[in-house]
Amino acid sequence: DQPRQDSPGETPEAVLHRVFGHPGFRGRQEEIIRHVMAGGSGLVLMPTGGGKSLCYQVPALCRPGLGVVVSPLIALMEDQVAALRQQGIAAAALHSDLPEEQAREVRRELAQGALKLLYVSPERLLLDGTLDFLARRPLALFAIDEAHCVSQWGHHFRPEYRGLGLLAERFPAVPRLALTATADPRTVEDIRAQLGLSDSPVFRGGFDRPNIQIAAAPRESERGQLRAFIKAASDGTGAGIVYCGSRARTEQTTAWLQADGHDALCFHAGMEPAAKREAHRRFARGDAVIMAATIAFGMGIDRPDVRWVAHLDLPRSPESWYQEIGRAGRDGLPARALLLYGAGDIALARHRILESPAPEEQKRIERARLEAMVSIAEAATCRRRILLRCFGEDGPEHCGACDVCRSPPRLFDGTVPAQKLLSAVLRTGRRFGVGHLVDVLRGRVTDKVAQFGHDRLPTFGIGKDLSDQAWRGVARQLVAMGALDVAIENHGELVPTEAARPILKGEQQVMLRAETLREAAPRERAGR
Ligand code: ADP
Ligand code: ZN
Repeated sequence: DQPRQDSPGETPEAVLHRVFGHPGFRGRQEEIIRHVMAGGSGLVLMPTGGGKSLCYQVPALCRPGLGVVVSPLIALMEDQVAALRQQGIAAAALHSDLPEEQAREVRRELAQGALKLLYVSPERLLLDGTLDFLARRPLALFAIDEAHCVSQWGHHFRPEYRGLGLLAERFPAVPRLALTATADPRTVEDIRAQLGLSDSPVFRGGFDRPNIQIAAAPRESERGQLRAFIKAASDGTGAGIVYCGSRARTEQTTAWLQADGHDALCFHAGMEPAAKREAHRRFARGDAVIMAATIAFGMGIDRPDVRWVAHLDLPRSPESWYQEIGRAGRDGLPARALLLYGAGDIALARHRILESPAPEEQKRIERARLEAMVSIAEAATCRRRILLRCFGEDGPEHCGACDVCRSPPRLFDGTVPAQKLLSAVLRTGRRFGVGHLVDVLRGRVTDKVAQFGHDRLPTFGIGKDLSDQAWRGVARQLVAMGALDVAIENHGELVPTEAARPILKGEQQVMLRAETLREAAPRERAGR
């Protein structure tokens, strides 16, 4: 017999097989779907690629009435609707970019009860006309996708999401399923409170993505490091994403990648809407492209064969990093992620938080997130385990698929080099950046050293045993540790903090990664 487009009464398993062609449910999908089928509401925390969509699509198709999906991004809605229509499901999107003629058609289909799934922007949904209309129709469920947009603690706060709280009052009998990839406890509680889900269960899915190999490294030669990574990570057909900390950097990166012969695209929030759509379209089309983007590029990427994700600047939080690297390897095949970072990134991010006009409480949280991110970047034990702990999950002791597990760093008692560097900072009057301090430690009489008489300091030349690069590494780890601050507002001079005192006094041991302290090569040791 002919498969019907819409068969209320069909079981979730049947819909899973017939419509989506999957042999079985994954993780907690089945449990969540059963809960919603029984009329329950809840919050789903699952990482990107975890399979959140099925959690509302399947019950929407099985339950009588219309499934209403709130989504913050037009591109995301369009992608989902196109995919569903291809599978023969009567889905449509309603948002402000829709030409009036098409909007009329959607409303006509709605009035006829011809739609099974309606994707709608929060502003559209919250119009009196829309709510009144929905109140007169049988509804299967409300799904609130990207639910972290409701929270000011997240980085994606959207004021229009706040209004969604009224769904609980206006539609008490309709199940509401909120979904997000964010698992930060504070944000989770905020989502539940805002959306009236405080008494409903939270379903936390598996955050581990074992097919993504993760690595982080101090930024030494950005282009060289990225070139080597791309060479190792790309398979010639899949896509790659380079996340950059600023719009200007996406443009510079696109330019040099293109000069290298890559099909590189650029994406950031400052681009014209048409250019953004075009970039999205090129990326979605399936070519072997590299997207150099700010975090504005993200939601709605449903390309399964992103083979790698690189970050040229430190992400704001483990949640951001996880969400961004989670765009790789959705097909389950091996994928890679590389994070490059520098002491300057860490100091700049700390400084930005300090200077932001946000309330103290929020600054404290952002600072905690940043410090968690720094600890992942500077990890001396399994990087994945540290990352998963940020989501309340205990990974295995050694994942075997991160750079730390694959080549464990030897730790080294770095107390003496740390003291030497800190004392050089103090002796030179806390007024110099890392370059000059390295000159002093290595015993190089540069013009600046001579000008300040720093060749007469007792610290002059006491650091000949380590390379320039090693000294920069020591400085970076001391910054990461919080013993040194980088004065961003001035000239990047290194300034000791309270935490430097016990190190200088020999009361605190400093463990540094051994590769940081690799000895100066003989040629280099001879000095210049
Ligand atoms: P999320 O919204 O959580 O980022 P998606 O819902 O887009 O994730 O699902 C990610 C991918 O996993 C999609 O390609 C989807 O087809 C696939 N998927 C989801 N559930 C299953 C399942 N039960 N079996 C096989 N593949 C699945
Ligand atoms: Zn590991």
